[in-house]
Amino acid sequence: MSETPLLVRDVAEEALLARIFPLLPAAPTTIVGPGDDCAVVAAPDGRYVVSTDVLVEDRHFRRRWSSGYDVGWRAAVQNLADVVAMGSRPAALVVSLVMPGDLPVDWVTGLARGLAAACTPVGAAVVGGDLSGGDQVVVAVTVHGDLEGREPVLRSGARPGDVVAMAGTLGRSAAGLALLELGRPDPELADAYLRPDPPLAAGPLAADAGATAMMDVSDGLLRDAGRIARASGVRLDLTSAALDSDRAALADAARVAAAGGPVGAGGPGTVVAVEGAVEGADDWRVLTDDWVLAGGEDHALLATFPPGASMPAPFRAIGTVAASGGSPGVAVDGAPPRRRATGWDHFGE
Ligand SMILES: [Mg+2]
Repeated sequence: MSETPLLVRDVAEEALLARIFPLLPAAPTTIVGPGDDCAVVAAPDGRYVVSTDVLVEDRHFRRRWSSGYDVGWRAAVQNLADVVAMGSRPAALVVSLVMPGDLPVDWVTGLARGLAAACTPVGAAVVGGDLSGGDQVVVAVTVHGDLEGREPVLRSGARPGDVVAMAGTLGRSAAGLALLELGRPDPELADAYLRPDPPLAAGPLAADAGATAMMDVSDGLLRDAGRIARASGVRLDLTSAALDSDRAALADAARVAAAGGPVGAGGPGTVVAVEGAVEGADDWRVLTDDWVLAGGEDHALLATFPPGASMPAPFRAIGTVAASGGSPGVAVDGAPPRRRATGWDHFGE
């Protein structure tokens, strides 16, 4: 006899909030926390960085794969990654949740636990939010960060001669999703997709080390590197061999996926069209390249540093910045990328 779970339509909003509040992460920067008309958060720097990001059920996650905890974790991390990519320390999140009445209460408390698990290590609090009914789950997070006296690290600061560097993994989230979609999940890669775990502490450290440009890789390395290149008016020259370990880590998954038919239709991690390809997308080597170069949502940090700067761990060099020669963009081993691996287009097919 299975017990029917308690659903959100069965509890009053006050009662639901009473279950959520004790689970939310706190931080010393919170002056007034959840429960009043507004939260009050200290901004010792006098400036604050702010960003927002939305997760929509069946577009950004599926409830059959993602628990409430997973969605809370991912919603937090993708916002925290934006904050640290500015060279700022995450301070406070507000979270709005739209949910259908038949959502189990446990899913919602799981979401709060996931938020807390992701926020606590970086010292960020959840200071408020909103609940509403709707046809599907939507999680909207707004995050605030403290620059702690640093200058913000923008996309536009890369200069010829700089080193291009990465902190975190590439392609694991895309590979994990692809295998989930194939019904042949790899537990470790599925975790990378469900709960990405980029080295968030490296963001402010990179700023301290003099990073000239930075962003988190949410839409794929080539696409996001192209954004830095265009914003800075330079060329980012990536070295393919520097990504060998990323490709090697996905080789087994790619063999499984290549044997299992088409991969990743219609979502993050979609294997993109191959322009002028001689190999089919069923070739596992093509898949590893697509995942590493175009797979998003690992939220690794991509930064440029002046030559000779000592990069904080775990940043590793993956290329150099060159003059654009009139056409800013990305090159791999000195040539335009062989594949049209452009990452996930939110409004594309
Ligand atoms: Mg970002």
